[in-house]
Formats: sequence, C-alpha cells, structure tokens
Amino acid sequence: MDGIGDRVRIHTGDITRLAIDAIVNAANSSLLGGGGVDGAIHRAAGPELEFECRMLNGCRTGDAKLTKGYRLPARYIIHTVGPVWQGGRKGEAELLASCYRRSLELAAANDCRTVAFPAISTGIYHYPKDEAAGIAARTVSTFIEQKTMPETVIFCCFDDQMAELYRQAVAALRKG
Ligand code: ADP
Repeated sequence: MDGIGDRVRIHTGDITRLAIDAIVNAANSSLLGGGGVDGAIHRAAGPELEFECRMLNGCRTGDAKLTKGYRLPARYIIHTVGPVWQGGRKGEAELLASCYRRSLELAAANDCRTVAFPAISTGIYHYPKDEAAGIAARTVSTFIEQKTMPETVIFCCFDDQMAELYRQAVAALRKG
C-alpha cells in the first residue's frame, strides 16, 4: 500500500523510553493508573500525571484523552481505553479501531509529528494478538493515507513475538 512504508515503524522496547511527541497509553476507564503499560507510564511520568488524570473524569472505551508527559521524554501522553476481549461479538474490533483513530486525531490536533502506540488491549484485556495487530495496522494506514499528521507512527512492541505479528500485519497491507 502506498504511503505507509516510510511513515509506519515497528520498534521493540519500552514505550516509556521514547523521546517523541506523544506516546499512547493503554489505560482503563478510570484513567487513574493500573497494571501493564499503564502502570509503567504512570511510574515513569511521576505523580503529577495522576493529578491531571483526576481532572479528566475518566474516558470511555474507544475514546482518548491527552495529558502532558511530565517526567517522560515524550511531550504528551494520549490515554485511550481499549475493549476487554469478550469473544469478538461485543463490538471489540470497532472499539479497538476507534482507539487508534481517536488517538491519531488528538495527536494531529496537538501538532504531534511522531506518535507511538503499544499493542492496545493485548495484555490484561486479552485481545487476540494477531487480530489486534491487523486492526492497528489497517486503521493507522487508512488514517495516515488521508492526513499529513502525524508524519510517523511507531508500533512499540514489548517483545519480539509481538513485533513479528506487526511486521506480518503491515506486510499484508502492502500486498493489498
Ligand atoms: P491492556 O489492558 O490494554 O491489555 P496491557 O498494558 O496489559 O494493556 O498490555 C498492552 C500491551 O502493552 C501488551 O502487549 C504488553 O506486553 C505491552 N506492554 C507492557 N508494558 C509495556 C511497555 N513498558 N512498553 C511497551 N509495551 C508494553
């Protein structure tokens, strides 16, 4: 698929280390911190993050809200709430796609040139990893083909197995 090649990257590592415009947090609807990547982001950003999050009145599944990055090297954090996997017939795919779209809209609205996503919902929320990678790749590529911002989107995978699933998902798009 045209246009996504140079604008989508796959990175293996800890998302809290990325010195970019925005990182996305796979949060829960309270926005007050939790386990997994959410806990890592709150620990790395410091307690000021929770103060700002308290004022946001939570976030619905499929939606996203933006805060400052505080002690993170990233300027902003975009908190999005992925669906809990319940077998696939509860609108999970559309909600997961919405997380990616709403996060990209917020990134663009805040002049973020580079934004990184973790594999939303694939940890504690148990979304099947290959399906989640496919939705992430398709939704991001559709968005960036239509918009100039963000310029670059990074899929930040915590391990090599997840990175390989993203490589396959992005390659499948290129084949059309
Ligand atoms: P969810 O509740 O949306 O499932 P999790 O945080 O449990 O969120 O997991 C989402 C994904 O983030 C998982 O694939 C997990 O391996 C990954 N992950 C956990 N910590 C980090 C981190 N520090 N950087 C990047 N990815 C992470």
